[in-house]
Amino acid sequence: MKGKIIKGIAGFYYVHVPEINEVFECKAKGIFRLQNVKPLVGDDTELDISGQPKGKGVITRILPRKNELIRPAVANVDQAMVIFAAAEPAPNLNLLDRFLITMGRQNIHTIICFNKKDIVDRKDMEMLTETYIRSGHKVLGISVLKQDGTAAVKELLKGRTTVLAGPSGVGKSSLINTLNPDARMEVGTVSEKIKRGRHTTRHSELIYVDDNSYVMDTPGFSSLYIDDIEEEGLKNYYNEFNEFKDKCRFIGCMHLNEPGCAVKEALSEGKISSIRYDNYRALYEELKDIKKY
Ligand code: ZN
Repeated sequence: MKGKIIKGIAGFYYVHVPEINEVFECKAKGIFRLQNVKPLVGDDTELDISGQPKGKGVITRILPRKNELIRPAVANVDQAMVIFAAAEPAPNLNLLDRFLITMGRQNIHTIICFNKKDIVDRKDMEMLTETYIRSGHKVLGISVLKQDGTAAVKELLKGRTTVLAGPSGVGKSSLINTLNPDARMEVGTVSEKIKRGRHTTRHSELIYVDDNSYVMDTPGFSSLYIDDIEEEGLKNYYNEFNEFKDKCRFIGCMHLNEPGCAVKEALSEGKISSIRYDNYRALYEELKDIKKY
């Protein structure tokens, strides 16, 4: 039988078998020795339930991993989806950029959802959409409350494993509940967890949506640090610079104060979003100021 590890706690691995939509509590005895591999959430496995009590099993094999993320720790991720409210609260686009960089470094493509489309000014929505489409991402405007765009989200998740993230209060839990009412996410759990402070250990967990779709609900943005990026490399995560950077006067131009910078020229002509450029500049300064060890 084949299944996916959706959770690991204290030596037990919870393996979901999509064909029968059941979860088995498994030990992974012998895997270390046979394959020299520590099972990870997201791993596709073979399991044996014969001779085991009901609901229990043994993982006999970990199938080869497609990839392995460090933040969050999960294997076989196809894509990421990040949710922000388009308004109430206004989106923190600096945080959004951090998330895009975190995923970009791990070669994971991110889909951006702006929720609460129903309450935001149409012009603001267009501006947000345009800004992030130019950054090379897929952007969806949705309203979980009005069930507008949620079918499109479901379609994008279909058959894939998706890291799902977003600050609290943006409708992430409501979206998960809409996608899979059986998941019964308690709305507001994430913010509760943040309130309990940094000592709370949080286990990564995959939630089965359906049609072989899994989402990993990542808590808030607590692990979103990008401190270990060299500031010189930051520009590589701003895809919209690419079309102009070869026209900069200096090779290795950081697009900050250099004369003859084609990126800054594009910015002044409105071809590059000032929101993105200002984020780039702020993050660059932040990284430069960090003491590197
Ligand atoms: Zn430049």
